[in-house]
Amino acid sequence: MKIAVLRERAAGESRVSASPETVKKFIALGATVAVESGAGVTASISDEEYRAVGADVTDNAVAGADIVLGVQGPEVDQLSGANPGAWIVAGLDPFGKRERVNAYAAAGFEALAMEFMPRITRAQSMDILSSQSNLAGYKAVLVAANLYGRAFPMMMTAAGTVSAAKAFIMGVGVAGLQAIATARRLGAQVSATDVRSATKEQIQSLGAKPIFVENVAGIEGEGAGGYATEMSEEYQKAQAELVSSHIAKQDIVITTALIPGRAAPRLISDAQIATMKPGSVIFDLAVAQGGNVEGSVPDQVVEKHGVKIVGYSNTPAHLPADASALFSRNLYNFLSAFWDKEQGKPVLDEEIGNAIRLTQGGKVVNERLLA
Ligand code: NAD
Repeated sequence: MKIAVLRERAAGESRVSASPETVKKFIALGATVAVESGAGVTASISDEEYRAVGADVTDNAVAGADIVLGVQGPEVDQLSGANPGAWIVAGLDPFGKRERVNAYAAAGFEALAMEFMPRITRAQSMDILSSQSNLAGYKAVLVAANLYGRAFPMMMTAAGTVSAAKAFIMGVGVAGLQAIATARRLGAQVSATDVRSATKEQIQSLGAKPIFVENVAGIEGEGAGGYATEMSEEYQKAQAELVSSHIAKQDIVITTALIPGRAAPRLISDAQIATMKPGSVIFDLAVAQGGNVEGSVPDQVVEKHGVKIVGYSNTPAHLPADASALFSRNLYNFLSAFWDKEQGKPVLDEEIGNAIRLTQGGKVVNERLLA
């Protein structure tokens, strides 16, 4: 069983899909591991560190590979020389990169999309969306704090008092929860909103104030699989009114709202931005999925009505060392959980296998893609 670790080719991608720690563990399972030269450099991991744990560091890591690991999906021409039926295990962006999924099928590879990991307890340690969103939520607050021309905490000084920043977090999933915690740690007064009612208690338990639409029903409890769906027009209208009345008083807004397989919901309009104080900062974590904020542009600081609007197309890539360490563990936790000692390779079960498998036997087989 040969596992190949690729150097990422996508623009701005600084992460790597295996760390020296996980390479060592794969070898302990009985696999051989080939790491493409320079794969870890942008995540502060040298070739030497991979060699030291027993990896073969080479320019042609993919040759004879049975499993190819990536952070993002490799292009098919990067995979020539991999064994027939090899597994491609990465964040494959199945909806966005549908053509490439078809190409994996045509080339006979079995593509496994890690972002389709079901949200069940036993798969939590394999969930790349969670591990990466958590870091993204943290980084978003730091970036916003850095662009903000004032301090976050209240400070009483001999020269007078600096008042605390008011931060509003929209969307309280994994990223939003970490954004609340980070903004609180920095000393901001934090409020937050979501469409899923279960998040209200989570917001309060982090010491922030929940701001919720009260007159129209949102999503009961956690929502299906922990995910939100598109809201009714009536709800959207009520939410817009709520945001309008709240946002004018905020200094920092972090938006994180996503709906799986769809464009991100629009939460903040240009007219609402115009009501904010000059010098306020908005970080749009959904900018790469279409954006929660009108006028946000990936990887640019846009200034509208004196308000800075920012969002990275790939926020976890701005914390490459930690993001890689956690991503690598997600992949290891996944493959090792299914490792069959007798066969010397992983064998998937139906629940997880069917959820994440995109292609097999020359065909696209995933229900979510065929639907
Ligand atoms: P996500 O990235 O899909 O969305 C981010 C947040 O935006 C969600 O909380 C969503 O409800 C919210 N949102 C969507 N539309 C909105 C709107 N119009 N207005 C305001 N907010 C909106 O979600 P996520 O961070 O991946 O996780 C969501 C939930 O899943 C969390 O409760 C998390 O604890 C749970 N989860 C469970 C597991 C597991 O059990 N294995 C793993 C990961 C996450």
